[in-house]
Amino acid sequence: MNTNGNAQIAIVTGASRGIGAAVARRLAKEGFAVAINYASSSAEADALAAEITSAGGRALAVKADVSNAGDVRRMFETVEQQLGKVDVLVNNAGVLKTMPLADTSDALYDQTFDINVRGTFNTLREAAARLNNGGRIVNFSSTVLALKLPGYAIYSATKAAVEAFTQVFAKELRGRNITVNAVAPGPIATALFFDGKTEEQIETFAKMPPLQRLGQPDDIASVVAFLAGPDAGWVNGQILRANGGIA
Ligand code: NAP
Repeated sequence: MNTNGNAQIAIVTGASRGIGAAVARRLAKEGFAVAINYASSSAEADALAAEITSAGGRALAVKADVSNAGDVRRMFETVEQQLGKVDVLVNNAGVLKTMPLADTSDALYDQTFDINVRGTFNTLREAAARLNNGGRIVNFSSTVLALKLPGYAIYSATKAAVEAFTQVFAKELRGRNITVNAVAPGPIATALFFDGKTEEQIETFAKMPPLQRLGQPDDIASVVAFLAGPDAGWVNGQILRANGGIA
């Protein structure tokens, strides 16, 4: 609830499946009205909005390619018109294709930076003008940045940029009572993780954390709910590595 006693409004980018969908479900359960952003998976986003609405929550599926500044501006306008002014922004949309740096095409480099970095930049810039004071921003990094894994050079570089945005933007929003943090998941059982991996590779990743399993989208949704909720009010400019203990 905000100071007027109304439900708070959250935008979750890339919420049609995977971690973003789990975050949207969790925030709706916590009483947020949730904007479910997607770029192309309209059926999944609509189904999630219907699921949340039929459970008594408020949700809206909003199409916007986060790498396109005009789309992002229109997404905020639509959400403001249909749900209200935004309190929480979760920058979850992201892509990964593992590839040795030497084999990476210009197109793959551009696509990864456009969605992971420019996408986060676009929503942060829009949020600076539009987010309610007292709001929360949660960005998405990845534990692979710290692991320095071969094949992840481009992806890790995009997440390094997101971590830099997080730490600097937290300071730039001084005086607004808005926190900016990032969560850096380890391997999570989603399409992004499974795509292109052999059973053997999946097993290797599952054994990496001392907790000896893959993370589930809900493991990250609860971290995001913490960062978006009242208990994290004094946590700002931090990268929370939620990865079952991989180091
Ligand atoms: P996922 O299952 O592939 O889902 C990605 C979501 O992003 C989808 O809803 C997709 O919707 C959306 N999306 C992609 N491009 C978009 C764009 N240009 N504009 C708007 N939405 C877009 O991925 P995930 O595993 O849940 O990953 C979520 C985040 O966690 C990413 O930032 C990822 O880097 C990070 N992460 C994941 C893991 C992991 O192991 N899974 C680990 C560390 C960090 P459309 O189909 O409509 O495009």
